[in-house]
Amino acid sequence: MMPPPRLDPPSLRVPANRPGGASAEAIDDAINRGEFQLVYQPKLDVRTKRVASIEALMRWNHPRDGMRMPDSFIGDTEESGAIGRLSLWAFDRAVEDQRFLRERDGVDVIPYVNLSAQLLNHPATVIALCRIAAQPGVRLGIEITERSVIDDPEHAFANIDRLREAGYAIAIDDYGVGLSSLTYLKQIAADELKIDKSFVTALDTSHRDPLIVRSTIDLAHALGMVVTAEGVESPAAYALLSVMGCDMVQGYLISRPLPLGEVAAFITGFDESTIAYPRNASVLRDASFWKRA
Ligand code: C2E
Ligand code: CA
Ligand code: CA
Repeated sequence: MMPPPRLDPPSLRVPANRPGGASAEAIDDAINRGEFQLVYQPKLDVRTKRVASIEALMRWNHPRDGMRMPDSFIGDTEESGAIGRLSLWAFDRAVEDQRFLRERDGVDVIPYVNLSAQLLNHPATVIALCRIAAQPGVRLGIEITERSVIDDPEHAFANIDRLREAGYAIAIDDYGVGLSSLTYLKQIAADELKIDKSFVTALDTSHRDPLIVRSTIDLAHALGMVVTAEGVESPAAYALLSVMGCDMVQGYLISRPLPLGEVAAFITGFDESTIAYPRNASVLRDASFWKRA
């Protein structure tokens, strides 16, 4: 008779997708040497004109390569199996940074942390995330992509519920790229939908993107979610999104990602009038059209 399969205790090591990628040891060493940091990009509430929350974005201050952006190391880290530890480092860091902002600067703001698609169904990570949220005074959000639910939707939905019960706000990231399925959208218990920047950066020049964005805003509202447009770079895009009923905007027009030391001053000193409005009236004509449409 075959022996029963050995059930390893939950471990923070995620099975490597493709052995031979960047080494998990290198990531561990970099975590221990303090080479990773989070920068924060504000999300602006369109109605209140105040910063509603901040998104944590990872940077690797590499001793040889200089500042490395996440697209250059997250994929390798996922393949090495070290993404669980690196993600938990990010959540712990966000908790410390939230505390720092509150205690030193008197600013209470919710950081949203990106969660790799590999981790939503990784039991030890979900347990660790629930523990992090249980600490006093902690209020965090998680950004997940639809990729997280494709392999095993039932477990993914259950884990999303678990994380929400633990206190996390859930945002669906990069909506519209890859496999955007209405079936998943309907079933994910999310608080926020983030429209991918590829639809937003060309909003005021493209013919089709405004239609897609407008209908996505309506769809998300019908499903009870607030909508964030990311990649807002121009006053014209901001004006259009406001009249389309978009709830929050994020992008270089509002702010680039900021080091922790600059977050509080940005939030307390933010003045919407510094975001230049479009001078030419044709955009505003467009805007009234989109309001009616
Ligand atoms: P994302 O979650 O879609 O993050 C938004 C990316 O768009 C950021 O790039 C941000 O700097 C950039 N961005 C913001 N505003 C604008 C804009 O107006 N125009 C344009 N063209 N781009 C804008 P970044 O920081 O390089 O991050 C890239 C991706 O890396 C993120 O995409 C996210 O998928 C991933 N990532 C970042 N931090 C983490 C992390 O802690 N964990 C995991 N698993 N992934 C992360
Ligand atoms: Ca994100
Ligand atoms: Ca995104």
